[in-house]
Amino acid sequence: MNWQNILSIAKYMKSAGTFNWRPVRGAKRLSAHSYGIAIDIAVQISDYWLWEFKGKKETDKIGYKNRIPMGIVEIFEKYGFVWGGRWYHFDTMHFEYRPEIINYFKK
Ligand SMILES: [Zn+2]
Repeated sequence: MNWQNILSIAKYMKSAGTFNWRPVRGAKRLSAHSYGIAIDIAVQISDYWLWEFKGKKETDKIGYKNRIPMGIVEIFEKYGFVWGGRWYHFDTMHFEYRPEIINYFKK
């Protein structure tokens, strides 16, 4: 990766939080942030289903939106992170260290 590429993705590399003992928004289960295995990046240029589809419930049909470059996603996945942008209830700022899941699907 050259300097031009590094500069073009720098705005996405701003951490928006890692460890935070809290439930998943709108749910009773604990967030992966509670276990210190998740990081959120670039909140201002990320998309989250509850922000995009205000008032919708988990059981409602929703659309999809993402502004995180797939090159960044591929780097995180290469090192064992699951990306929230691949979930139906998308959370494109969210990366979670789950190498066991990544390795399972590599087989
Ligand atoms: Zn997160």
